[in-house]
Amino acid sequence: MRKPIIVGNWKMNKTIAEAVAFIRAVDPKVSESATWGVATPYLALEKSKAEAKNLIIAAENVHFKDSGAYTGEVSVEMLKEIGIEWVILGHSERRQYFGETDETVNAKTIQVLSHGLTPIVCVGETLDQFEAGITENVVREQTKAAFKDVHASCMERVVIAYEPVWAIGTGKTATNEIAQNVCAMIRDQVSQMFGQEVADKVRIQYGGSVKPEGLKALLEQPDIDGALVGGASLKEDSYVAMVENLG
Ligand code: PEP
Repeated sequence: MRKPIIVGNWKMNKTIAEAVAFIRAVDPKVSESATWGVATPYLALEKSKAEAKNLIIAAENVHFKDSGAYTGEVSVEMLKEIGIEWVILGHSERRQYFGETDETVNAKTIQVLSHGLTPIVCVGETLDQFEAGITENVVREQTKAAFKDVHASCMERVVIAYEPVWAIGTGKTATNEIAQNVCAMIRDQVSQMFGQEVADKVRIQYGGSVKPEGLKALLEQPDIDGALVGGASLKEDSYVAMVENLG
């Protein structure tokens, strides 16, 4: 019922030329089995979008205001002008290094949805929170905050990425069982807020040191509908290996 969605998050990697070369090589190889995409640095978005026929191209962030005195920021309108329809919001690196909060994630989610774009909203607990056994509380609160005042009719197209911070770029992946349990809990939270029908349509990704060989088993989990992938999305052969693994 829910089409899987796998998106690479390139972070601050790849020049425009490198991004275009990657897309030329990988775009023809992605299959119908899933929605495949990459989130690129801002500068590479326009040319990546022009090059991609099959891959969706996402921004890694956007501002919550329409325009104004926000030096260094990019608006939704600017993304729309170059045809970008997808945006990652609330990635833990933005929360950790750039002052992103539950409130700004919420403001950005509303801004993105009200302009017709689709957010991939990241939630996830830190290692300390995981070890303290408060994952459920943290992730439920992040989910509640991110989608506060969002209209149910917009919710269906939202993608949520569960990314335990302790698994990002560390080589430590959550077991499929942990990932499934938290994704099911996120879906339950969405259901409490927007009803079961909406919750059944929302796609929930797992992210955190996903490797091509583990993708299929991950996606066999009932509440995991895709993956947000950092390191393994950067090399062409590794990205194509994910496509092949999914079959
Ligand atoms: C990410 O950046 O969202 C991520 C999951 O990274 P990695 O796959 O490298 O852990």
